[in-house]
Amino acid sequence: MVEPRKEGHASANEADDVPDPGPASPASPLLVLHPTPAIPSAPPDPSSDKSPALQSLARQAPPAPAPCTASGPRPSPTAAFRRRFFPAVTASEWNDWHWQTRNRVTKLGELARFLVLSPAERAALSGRGALLPTGITPYYLSLLSPTDPEQPLRRTMIPTTAELERLPGEADDPLGEDAHMPVPGLVHRYPDRVLFLVLDFCATYCRYCTRSRVVGHGEITPNETRLRVALDYIRRTPQIRDVLLSGGDPLALADHRLDWLLGELRAIPHLEMVRLGTKMPAVLPQRITPQLTRVLRRHHPFWMSLHFMHPDECTPETYRACARLADAGIPLGAQIVLAKGVNDDVETMKRLVHHLLRMRVRPYYLYQCDPISGSSHFRTSVAKGLEIIEGLRGHTTGYAVPTFVIDAPGGGGKIPLQPAYAVGREADDLLLRNFEGRLFRYPDPQPESAGGAP
Ligand code: SF4
Repeated sequence: MVEPRKEGHASANEADDVPDPGPASPASPLLVLHPTPAIPSAPPDPSSDKSPALQSLARQAPPAPAPCTASGPRPSPTAAFRRRFFPAVTASEWNDWHWQTRNRVTKLGELARFLVLSPAERAALSGRGALLPTGITPYYLSLLSPTDPEQPLRRTMIPTTAELERLPGEADDPLGEDAHMPVPGLVHRYPDRVLFLVLDFCATYCRYCTRSRVVGHGEITPNETRLRVALDYIRRTPQIRDVLLSGGDPLALADHRLDWLLGELRAIPHLEMVRLGTKMPAVLPQRITPQLTRVLRRHHPFWMSLHFMHPDECTPETYRACARLADAGIPLGAQIVLAKGVNDDVETMKRLVHHLLRMRVRPYYLYQCDPISGSSHFRTSVAKGLEIIEGLRGHTTGYAVPTFVIDAPGGGGKIPLQPAYAVGREADDLLLRNFEGRLFRYPDPQPESAGGAP
């Protein structure tokens, strides 16, 4: 979901310039990092993890980010992180999404300056077996624990060797999207709506990504010719009433390119709505500028699905970004992937959905993690998702409870799952269980007995 920039392209101050995604591969990162002279030297090799030097680094490392509170955004750790690792960078550079994008951290040697890498992380970062490249904005990096590889946000961003294990039932394209593409980058699976993959670049790469097979590979580029082919398909297919822009992250497009694309879509008479999926408010909230929201609000009805994983993502910066989008009149829904060791307990999920409501983002879907290749360390049982829904429903605001779904492997679409609240029947009564486990009867005559026997 984000746009690459190549070295030598527009400067950080050219806020509306189009980062021009070119071919890229995991081995050839999309961005060339600008040197940051003040970054301290790398920490010692964690394989010598008993070394006094490592102990000393752990003592000097910024404290693990404070957990968020239920009543407001977590205190942002980013200022301390910037002072420590980027002392020469001004606040205005740090808050410029182009600067953040240009300075994404993509390589083992760079990451080791910020994190004490575990042997499993180090081995995964040194190898070439992962489907997905690594890329993290400095902002999001500031939210990761420098010392704990099991910290939830760190688990979602830093590859480990667990990602290299492929189990039966996993697939590179578990949803069968490639088989439903009438033109490159346009998935037409449901009759009345399409998924438009605008580009394959993201500001950060989530290790559980369903589109690991394409994201960050530089094969889906937002060049105008390809986009026009997709637009033509939508134009000549009148049953399409709804387009979801995704990728990659469509907000990686520069404002004027996004404006053009949305304008082309809105000019199609049978198109009733346009939606856009993004993780920017969580990983690069600096992207949500007043200029961007001025563009987006021109194209209503325009909806957004924001990807969140954990309450630690709900910083003051993210609160501000969501407020800008909500103030632009954009209905905001959240998509959350259930992931082991990240958000697979009721308390964590409850804190996340409460933050989302405070940010005016309606928790929309909770996804069972798709069986993508190398995802077994993230996948929970389906029962865990049901347990979480049961721990929310009735125990908090109804708006806070997302719909738990499995995206059926092979392209069957989303299938909603609910805990069993209808527990049986006695004659004409339906037996129901409430959120406290108490049983209730609801009169529900069966069709054959409705109205009574003659
Ligand atoms: S989940 Fe979304 S933001 Fe994350 S890598 Fe995949 S497409 Fe990008």
